[in-house]
Order: sequence, then C-alpha cells, then structure tokens
Amino acid sequence: MKPIEVHKFGGTSLGSAERIRHAAELVAQAAQHARVAVVASAMAGVTDQLVGAAADAAAGNTEQALHAVDALRTRHHEALAALATEDETGVDAQIDQLLDELEALLRSVGLLGEISARVHDRIVATGEKLSVRLLAAALRARGVHGVAVDADTFLETDGLFGAANPLSGIADRTIAVTLRPHLDAERIPVVTGFCGGAPDGATTTLGRGGSDLSATVLAGALDAAEVTIWTDVDGVFSADPRIVPEARVLEQLNYREAGELSYYGAEVLHQRTMIPVAAKGIPVWTRNSMNPEAPGTVVDGRFTPGSHPVKGISAVRGQCLLSLEGKGMAGVPGVAARMFGALAAHGISVTMISQSSSESSICIAVPDRDADEGERLLKSAFRPELSRGDVEEIVVQRHVGLVAAIGLGMAHTPGIAARVFQALGRKRVNVLAIAQGSSELNVSIAVDQRTIDTAIRSLHQEFGLHRLDTGEDQAKGLDLMLLGCGQVGRQLVELVLDREAQVFERFGLRPRIVAIADRSGFLFSPTGLPLDELRAALDAKAGGQRLASLPGAVAASDPAEMVRHACQWRLVRPVLVDVSDADASHTAFLEALDLGCDLVSANKKPFAGPLQGFHDLLARAETHGRLVRAEATVGAGLPVIDTLDVLLATGDLLRTARGCFSGTLGFLVTRLQQGAWLSEAVREAVELGYTEPDPVADLSGADVARKALILGRFSGLVQDDRPVRLTGLVPEEWAGMEREALLERLQTLDDDLAAQVAAAREAGKVLRYVANVQPGRVVVGPEAVPADSPLGMLKGTDNMIVFTSDRYHDRPLVVQGPGAGAEVTAMGVLGDVLRIAAERR
Ligand code: ADP
Ligand code: ASP
Ligand code: MG
Repeated sequence: MKPIEVHKFGGTSLGSAERIRHAAELVAQAAQHARVAVVASAMAGVTDQLVGAAADAAAGNTEQALHAVDALRTRHHEALAALATEDETGVDAQIDQLLDELEALLRSVGLLGEISARVHDRIVATGEKLSVRLLAAALRARGVHGVAVDADTFLETDGLFGAANPLSGIADRTIAVTLRPHLDAERIPVVTGFCGGAPDGATTTLGRGGSDLSATVLAGALDAAEVTIWTDVDGVFSADPRIVPEARVLEQLNYREAGELSYYGAEVLHQRTMIPVAAKGIPVWTRNSMNPEAPGTVVDGRFTPGSHPVKGISAVRGQCLLSLEGKGMAGVPGVAARMFGALAAHGISVTMISQSSSESSICIAVPDRDADEGERLLKSAFRPELSRGDVEEIVVQRHVGLVAAIGLGMAHTPGIAARVFQALGRKRVNVLAIAQGSSELNVSIAVDQRTIDTAIRSLHQEFGLHRLDTGEDQAKGLDLMLLGCGQVGRQLVELVLDREAQVFERFGLRPRIVAIADRSGFLFSPTGLPLDELRAALDAKAGGQRLASLPGAVAASDPAEMVRHACQWRLVRPVLVDVSDADASHTAFLEALDLGCDLVSANKKPFAGPLQGFHDLLARAETHGRLVRAEATVGAGLPVIDTLDVLLATGDLLRTARGCFSGTLGFLVTRLQQGAWLSEAVREAVELGYTEPDPVADLSGADVARKALILGRFSGLVQDDRPVRLTGLVPEEWAGMEREALLERLQTLDDDLAAQVAAAREAGKVLRYVANVQPGRVVVGPEAVPADSPLGMLKGTDNMIVFTSDRYHDRPLVVQGPGAGAEVTAMGVLGDVLRIAAERR
C-alpha cells in the first residue's frame, strides 16, 4: 500500500484561484506515489479580515463587519468560478450558507455589543471552511477525487477557545476513523486547518498559525510517512528573512530546535507543530509552493553537530518584564515557582525566567497585555514578603522583546552567552535579562523592543549564520573585495561572475564579490553582491555618480573602512583586490593583511612609494602567512612577475630586466620611426584613446618609472631608495595643460626627436622608450637600440620585457604581448586571484 503523506497549504499558497490551482497540482503530483491528506489554511488575509469583522461587530460597527462578509462572498465565488471545470453549484450553495451563518453571527454580536471566545472561534473558523471547499473543487477539476472535510466534526480538543489543544488519544482515534476510509478509497480529504471541536461539539481554533499543528496532528494519528508544510519561503531560515536579508535556509533541524525557534517567534511553524510527530519520528518538510524545486527544510529527530553551535535566531515581541527585587530573597527556595504558580493560576504563561546570580532579583517575561494583571497577582502573592521588606519592590518594564539564539550544538560549546553579550555590546544593545534554557538549547535575552532587529542581526552575524549549512561554500568559497570601480573593475566583475565563471567551476571555486568601493564609500553583502547590482553600480559610476550615493551604500572616505566592515563577517578565503589608482590603498592593504585577507593589486602606488612601505607590506604578509600578488602592475596581463618568480624559485640569478612597459609610448616611437612628428603622433594617440586623460602622464615616463621600480623591488635587484633616473619625452611639469596648448607646445620638441630618430638610424638602430632595471639602479628614457634586437623589433602598442640571468644570458628570456587595456589588466588580476585560491585549498 502507498505511504500516507500530509500536505498543508498556508494562506499565501491559497491566495488566489491561480495559487489554489497550483496547490492542487502539487497535491496531484504527491498523489502519484502516496495516499494524501491535505490541510488548508484560509485564503491569504481572510483570518485577519474575520478577526477584524468580529471586532467591528463587537464594537457596534455591524455595517462595516457585513461589508467584510460581502467582500469574502465575492472573492470565494469568483475563485470557485475560475477553478471549477464541472458543475459545482453545490459548493456555491455551501459558500453562501457559510457566509449567511457568518452574517447572522456578526449581527448578533453587534446586537449584544460583546463577543465570547466561543463565538469568536466560530466566526474565524469560517475562513478555513471556505478554503477547503475551493481546494477540493480544484482537485476535482484536476481529475483527482478531493473531498472537503471540516475538522470541527472529528478533531477533538480540550475546548480552550482561541488556543485549543487536540486531545491526543481521542483525537487520534476519531481522525483515523474519519480519514482512513477516504485514503483507502483513493479520495483526498481536504481538512480545515486551525479548527477543532470542543467536547460540547462547538467549533474551536488552535490559535493563530494553528494549521501547521493540524497537519502534524493528522500525520501522527494516521502514522503518515511525512508532512509537508507548503508556505511562501524556501524553508525554515536561520532568522526571519524579512529582518535578516542574508539569512540562510536550514537544510535540517532537530524537532527540539524547530520547537524552540517557533516558540521564540518564528511564525513559519506554529509553536506546537512538532509535538504530535516528534515521538513517532515523522519528518516535517517546509517547502515553498511558489518554488517547489527548492529542497526546503526537513525537521526530524537527527542531531547534526557542525561548525555552528547556533542554528537560528528568533524573537518574540510584545513582552514585558516583571521583576522581584530584594536582598531578602537570597537563599529562600521556591520564589520562582511561586511566581510561576501565581501567574499560571490565572492563565498567564511565562515566556522566560532569569535570576541574577546573587539571587537578589528574579525576573520573568510575560506578554505585554498581561502586564497589569501580572503585577497585581505578584503583589498579592508576595504581600507578606513585601511588607517584611524581603522583597523590596516589583518592577514592571514594558515593550520588551525576547531574542533567542537556538541550537543543540550549544550544549557542547562553552562561552555562547559571553559571545551573545559581546556581540550585543558592540552594537550598543542593552541586555535587560538573559536566560539559558536548562536544556542548553537556547540562550534568550530580553532587550528593549526598539533594539530587537539590531539584536537579531548582530547575533546572526556573530554566529556566522549567513554561512550556515553551506559546507559546499566553505569548500568552494572565495570572497573578493574590490577597491575601484573603473574600467578594470568592470571587466573584472564580468570575468569573475560571468564570462570566466566556468574557469572557477573547473577549479572547484565559487567566487563572490562581497564588497566594492570607490573613494566615497562602498557596497557590501556578506553573501555576495549580485551581478546586476554590481553592473548597475558600475554604470552609475560611469555616469558620474559616487558609490556612496547609491541605495544601500555605506559612506567611507578610507578604503580601510570597507575592509574592516567586511571582515567583521566570517568570509571565506577573503581577498582584497585593488583595481583603483588610489594613494590610500597602502594602509588598507596593511589592515587587510592583519585581518586575514590575501591581496591582489593592479594599483602600482602601494608598491612604488618609499621602499620601507614596500618592505612593510611584504613583512606583514609574511607575519600573517598571507599572499600578495601584483602581476597586473607591470605589463597588465603579461606574465612578467610570474616569470620572475619562476626564475628566482628555480635558483636562477637575475642580472637585468629591461623593456618597453608603455603601450602609448610604444605607439609614439613607432610613429616617429615612420617619420611622423612628435606633436602629430601624440594627437593621433589621443584620438585613438591610447593616452591617459592628460597625455603628459604617459609622455613624462612617470608611469613606466613606477613599473620599473616595482620590477626592481620584486626581483630584488633594487635594494635601496635611490631615485629612478628618468628622462621623459616631455617634462613632468607640463602636466595639467590644456589639450591644444600642450599639442602646440609639443611642436617645440618635434625637431629634437626627429633628430634622435635620424641619429639612431645612422647607427643602424631604432629609437625606443626603455626601462632598465639593473643591480642598484633603474634608468628610464628614450634609447637607441639595435634594429635586430628583441626591443628593436617591437612594434606598436605591445609591451616587452627582456630578462637576462645566469641561465638566460646569450639569448635572453623575452615576454611580449599586449600590455595595456582594461580587459588584459583584469585578466592579470584574475590570474592572481586564481593562484591565491589554489594556494589556499
Ligand atoms: P503560511 O501562511 O504559509 O502559514 P506564515 O506567514 O505563517 O505562512 O509563515 C511564513 C512566514 O514566516 C515567512 O513568510 C517569513 O516571513 C516568516 N518567518 C519568520 N521567521 C522565519 C524563519 N526563521 N524562517 C522562515 N520564515 C520565517
Ligand atoms: N488561518 C489561520 C491564521 O491565519 C491559521 C493558519 O494560517 O495556520 O492564523
Ligand atoms: Mg502559518
């Protein structure tokens, strides 16, 4: 015989005819391999409307209450019309009958001007009675035999109106007797959730959100193989996703963990949902009806210890703290028990209890609405102690929330409470009381209601829950922080998240760009900024906006702030990638190394400042066992520093490195060789977009000098701070001139350069702009080189580096190729990132 499954649909899964049809489809699929019992909530919003109508009627606004009934009538008839394929006039009549009865109830409440809990339950139960009839009709339309069944006819409870408890033994029998015949006959009973019957036959409800409990009660009674709670999110999250955007779907929870999470306010599952199934070990799945492909969360009896002692954070709002204060209580047994007793006798349930270690104060949390009554009860229960002064006062603090960190793993992990305190302290959340459950399954704290969300987020962060259940992420993760939003940044984003994604896949890596910064601020997401958001940010930058002006951005003038902010999170293999030309990067680099990041830089400045700064960086990396790579600072994507590394690592000794490191200057000298005037060639280069916005930056040779210096330092040839001997094509002082004025001024140099070209040609040579790195010195400037040498044969914008070493002396080692442009630079950066990721595995 097929196994039995219970499928429960929440209100949002039944919000419209279309959603109901979809729910019927999910049921029909399940019915192929199982005998299915369905539990349905009211259509989305209907229970709230009914509660509102009841309140309106009780307040004498009967007309308004009846308007709500009209709206419900239209909504349900319309939905039925849209769903039914065969004649369902019977259902239409039932809808009218239920709503006529509702109308009568509301009218009488209106007349009386008050409402009892019993009548209230009968009114709000109408929502489910309506919805099951629609869903059963939808099943019939889908060709499956659905039958609407009202739970108040068979699900026996204790009759506590508004919060009834199913009576396990009795209900189990009546449920089985009622539903099994349907299941055995391959009919699908569609049962009203949330509802039950009082011993006297009246309709009761199980409390808001109670359909989840209905489902597990049925599952327990029917010995179902499993329960599926269909809702509007992908499963049970590590915290309410509306409050913590980076919350993760949990793959698995133990019954006790789930119970605790919902007890502390996670409304995705009703508080008592797990009770009927835990003993029998029936697994409960929570899945998204709008995304049925997602695996969802399973709650079962397993305890899966992992790296995370805490699995979830939840919160109950609307609480108040009642505390008994007084030195005389120390050592007196049973104070807490008497507090409980006094409140319980009047139906007030205590959500939390906390005792100071000196025993001079005991504090309990109860719902805000019970504050006055609770205070009165405690005053009368402790009258003798109050008059003797053993209890000095009873303090009432309202508008409190309880935030709980939950997880079975806590029992084996010391120091959880201390971490809770520290994390909250950092965010300036004041802890009013703290309690550790005796089961060591939760730590709960009372905080001012206004600080609840901050408290939830900071605990979620403290326990690294955005990384929860993502063992795969831990193995594959690679978290990049980007400094710079220019052309190279854009290319890199595209390469990492789009064009070269399969390269990462091949390396078994899942890269994420968690942060991106410019000079004004940064964007950050610990789970990775989505590609479209990054693209939009880069577009905005290209359009002249500052990053700090974008929604969600954090303003910060120092890139180190982004590093500090990001590193508060548990990042996986964090790498700071500098694709800016900012001067301020050096300090951010040091900070990133201290905080456990590796570094990749295309920015030359942090390596080309005072030699001490260069040494500091490498020393700091060494201290922390971090990696620093800067391939793209010389020759863009060409393997210049890589080649150097290989030479040095294999025991070779470098004698000199020389080459042409500027595509722009390469283009210019090629044109000069061809007979163009300097001023003319520069104009062409500007028009082709080969130059920096101020061409003097290229023409002065300063950029080439920086590259040469970096090469000198990384190769170890340059060990002191002696300045580079730089001869520019134009003096650096010309920087900042108007474009036309500059081009005119350049004409004064035309003859001189033409003469240099001619002289070189006389001697069988050609003119090149060459960087020479020799032991102890770096010389950069125009130079006549033999026409048949490697540098002499170089043409156009290509770069070339010629290494001479002990091993490569007669015929040097030459690296040649495109050495400029955003894409090749980004490629160089990408190569460094991949090398680091490989090292870190
Ligand atoms: P349904 O109508 O399906 O019963 P509910 O509104 O009762 O749906 O519960 C689902 C909602 O619970 C989600 O939309 C989500 O906003 C909220 N929620 C709160 N805490 C959590 C959590 N830890 N995991 C998942 N959802 C949660
Ligand atoms: N419809 C009821 C409510 O809104 C019960 C449920 O959805 O579980 O509370
Ligand atoms: Mg619910």
